[in-house]
Amino acid sequence: MRKISILGSTGSIGRSTLAVVDAFPDELSVVGLAAGANLELLVEQMERYRPELVSVRSAEDAARLRGRTKGVEIVHGPEGASDVATLGSADAVIAAIVGAAGIPPVYAALRAGKRVGIANKEVLVAAGDVMTRTAAEFGGEILPVDSEHNAVHQALRCGDHTEIQRIILTASGGPFLRRDPSTFGDISIEDALNHPTWRMGSKISIDSATMMNKGLEVIEAHHLFAMPAERIDILIHPQSIVHSMVEYVDGSIVAQLSTTDMKFPIQYALLYPARVTAPFARLDLARIRSLEFLPVDSERFPAVELAYAACSEGGSMPAVLNAANEIAVERFLAGELPFTGIVEVVSRVLDLHAGRTRPIQSVEDALHWDAWARNEARGIGVAIER
Ligand code: NDP
Repeated sequence: MRKISILGSTGSIGRSTLAVVDAFPDELSVVGLAAGANLELLVEQMERYRPELVSVRSAEDAARLRGRTKGVEIVHGPEGASDVATLGSADAVIAAIVGAAGIPPVYAALRAGKRVGIANKEVLVAAGDVMTRTAAEFGGEILPVDSEHNAVHQALRCGDHTEIQRIILTASGGPFLRRDPSTFGDISIEDALNHPTWRMGSKISIDSATMMNKGLEVIEAHHLFAMPAERIDILIHPQSIVHSMVEYVDGSIVAQLSTTDMKFPIQYALLYPARVTAPFARLDLARIRSLEFLPVDSERFPAVELAYAACSEGGSMPAVLNAANEIAVERFLAGELPFTGIVEVVSRVLDLHAGRTRPIQSVEDALHWDAWARNEARGIGVAIER
């Protein structure tokens, strides 16, 4: 029996993780849950899975939760999430908090030598070197849950690191793959949240619409697979069936395919290296019949180039990119920025940081530049032109 803690249990990935636990009652059980503020769902999860320890974002919500449940220890804040991540009885942690808020608990889990199934890509974007170094030093293990990186992890089982030619991350292209770019300024929040192939939380849905998500994934892949950005390519694949590929030096390309269901990569990360019969709906290629591939149009999606440049620059630049993007997305969702303003804000914050890049040697360094970039991104005005 593998005991797990889930960071972000009330979110899209958190709920899919619990569905995987339901599917494997003899292999998996839940000992810790951390969430933000969705107390209704959290109480349901606590009643059903009976964890030892639960964390919420605020002290007020922790007090409210204590009044509604008995026999479970309730903690709060970044320290609370870190307590859930380092729980002695947990063998593995699924990191599915959204954004840089996941940095402290993921770091704590790796320092405690845990296996971390990481969906929370922003942690690797902002502090990837620190996380991979900490995992190596303390015997922790990082397994990718992001479907593209999970696919690469599987494809890499076919060859040696020295035999890799390049990594090819696939991208659906999001809801605006074929929309006239001259109308991007009119894109509504509802349109941007309407992803064609995946149902996900709001932040990653907006990132998919700008394709910043794929840019963040290039940086994530750079850290997970020790690969320079120039050997990580992106290929648009609107059906989201081929989750990513590895091309080897002999010209063979190894790909991983499955339905658009995050339960597959979550199961893989939790049960690895075992492959266990999955009860989830299987891929039927004869029914899908055709798969399309096309290059990325970087004029349509300028976020991609920004992320490649930040990855090549390294140091604090990716942390700045990530934080500026988090704030720009938040401001778009609050109706303060037009869709095109998201990338504009990120680009302006990156310009402010140009020539001032510093190394990220610790979590504190990452959080410092994260806070700096958030502050700058909040202050940039971009008119809403509708
Ligand atoms: P959601 O918005 O659906 O869920 C986010 C979760 O994080 C919620 O449980 C939320 O709690 C919790 N949370 C937010 N802030 C805090 C905080 N400060 N402390 C503790 N918990 C917090 O996001 P997703 O599940 O879609 O995505 C999660 C991560 O996984 C992201 O990094 C995303 O990029 C990545 N990912 C997601 C995929 C998907 O299919 N959804 C695919 C690949 C990667 P609450 O709701 O209670 O406030």
